[in-house]
Amino acid sequence: MLSLQLHRLQKYLWPFCLHVALLATSARGQTADYLVGRKQTVYNPSQLSDVQFLEYSNLSDGQHLREAVQNILIPRVVGTANHSIVRQYIVNSLRDLKWHVELNSFHDKAPIVGQLHFHNIIATLNPQAERYLVLACHYDSKYIPDVEFVGAIDSAVPCAMLLNLAKVLEEQLRPLQTAKLSLMLLFFDGEEAFEEWGPNDSIYGARHLAKLWEKQGKLDRIDMLVLLDLLGAPDPAFYSFFGNTELWFMRLADLEQRLAEKSLLERYVNSGVNNWDPTRYFQPQALRSGLVEDDHIPFLRRNVPVVHLIPMPFPSVWHTQHDNESVIDYATTNNLALIIRLFTLEYLLGAK
Ligand SMILES: [Zn+2]
Repeated sequence: MLSLQLHRLQKYLWPFCLHVALLATSARGQTADYLVGRKQTVYNPSQLSDVQFLEYSNLSDGQHLREAVQNILIPRVVGTANHSIVRQYIVNSLRDLKWHVELNSFHDKAPIVGQLHFHNIIATLNPQAERYLVLACHYDSKYIPDVEFVGAIDSAVPCAMLLNLAKVLEEQLRPLQTAKLSLMLLFFDGEEAFEEWGPNDSIYGARHLAKLWEKQGKLDRIDMLVLLDLLGAPDPAFYSFFGNTELWFMRLADLEQRLAEKSLLERYVNSGVNNWDPTRYFQPQALRSGLVEDDHIPFLRRNVPVVHLIPMPFPSVWHTQHDNESVIDYATTNNLALIIRLFTLEYLLGAK
């Protein structure tokens, strides 16, 4: 994932050259309108009550999360047999949970390997819904010559987190099978470049789908695209990248804080690796940088609101053979999965 320029930027210039602005510290009691969709319409879901908050916070299945990671954690370059195995695993896992799953398949040409058959996986609870909260990640792994690259943070863990969410919240999400505002899980194919990151060699699946859905008028059904990437390593720091989803980002920050106040996060201490706000994942800062290229770009360019959950800087194992299960901090991963689950429930069940 991501361009070489960014890699250099991260390594040498971070954090000196990025425009960082402080956000208001909390969205709690926020009176400003929350906006969703390409037309930026108002949607103010209520926050979870204390009873709901506690009930939902106690739902988790760390064993399932770990199993899901292990099922995805094989080299899965587009076009290989392993890639089909992982795709089938994702599809079957969701169909078992009564999700409606379809593949968006297409051909495209990539450097080195030539013509490839790509398959985005689109899973919905209600295929007829009028609006969707979309949680997304990519399931292909990067082709690196002479390296058995399994991509734990990139992006087996994010995929496993989405499957885990579907499993853990099976009962809570059931009403969304008939709701007008529902949930979509999107597993992009072909995020990785084969030769060198560029407009024609990267995010194959996202480029195809954004274009198709624009033509079909389906982009207007997306309230927001929440993209998960490079998750699983300890001490992630997330920033709000986009002004139009800043209030939503702050809701994530608030959920983290609310969990921390109630001691509901696992081993919630910082190992001291990073040198910014030392006890938070969601940093109360905006980082206006157009440099982070990922699957959200074709949607962002078409005005779909985006929350990009990618740590800055990237974990040091990014795009190396060391991005394997040994780097996964399951406590952090479970904590992040919990925050995202609460956000999802608040968003979808909080409609007035
Ligand atoms: Zn990558």
